[in-house]
Amino acid sequence: MRVVLVGPPGAGKGTQAQFIASHLSIPKISTGDIFRANVSGGTELGKLAKEYMDRGDLVPDEVTVAMVRDRLSEDDAQEGFLLDGFPRNVPQAEVLKKMLAEFGTGLDVVLNLVVEDDEVVRRLAGRRTCRSCGKVWHVVFDPPAVEGVCDACGGELFQRDDDREETIRRRLEVYQEQTAPLISFYADEGILQGVDATGPVEEITQRAMSALRRFAD
Ligand code: ADP
Ligand code: ADP
Repeated sequence: MRVVLVGPPGAGKGTQAQFIASHLSIPKISTGDIFRANVSGGTELGKLAKEYMDRGDLVPDEVTVAMVRDRLSEDDAQEGFLLDGFPRNVPQAEVLKKMLAEFGTGLDVVLNLVVEDDEVVRRLAGRRTCRSCGKVWHVVFDPPAVEGVCDACGGELFQRDDDREETIRRRLEVYQEQTAPLISFYADEGILQGVDATGPVEEITQRAMSALRRFAD
């Protein structure tokens, strides 16, 4: 299956993406994760992306799209994929559509994770990420056994630079202005499924899997 996850920053896309991708045995492709790996690796792409990420703005489309094109051309993405964080505006969605048409295929479904603003801010403000394995925790909603240490791998947890209050506000504006229009774009394509993304993580995964099954045939 070819699936896209959309939703505001902090909706739980990364959290859900890992479970959904593993249930469907498809790779999870997160543009945010790829950018962050480039920032830590000190690559040219990372240096360019960091400037935008730190402000809470989108990295320019031509850079992002080229990166996604390379990733979708890899062998493991030929039978399906779960995109997390891409597309993030209508021009990216249009390029993705053309790109997949060139490969002779298209998206099956777009899951829209629906969470209200206050909850999104609570989730982002308490998010902690593992420096070693990238797993995401929350200081209140999903705390590790030992504060600051990843239960999964023992790595150090840190707060993302863009999860500070000022940047969170900017990212939510960017979401409203640029990303939210994707909802009607994909509704018009007839492939949008809304998923209530409040409540326990496992219940949301179940709702997402039921929504996907409706599109599986
Ligand atoms: P996104 O990728 O959409 O920005 P994340 O998956 O990184 O979102 O989740 C944001 C934060 O919210 C993380 O700290 C995560 O642990 C927490 N979180 C995710 N899902 C839930 C949930 N259902 N209830 C409470 N907190 C959640
Ligand atoms: P979140 O889910 O919390 O919003 P992400 O990890 O998806 O965060 O993205 C972090 C940052 O990486 C974004 O604020 C943006 O600067 C950049 N980014 C990620 N995906 C894209 C994209 N598709 N287009 C442009 N910039 C992106």
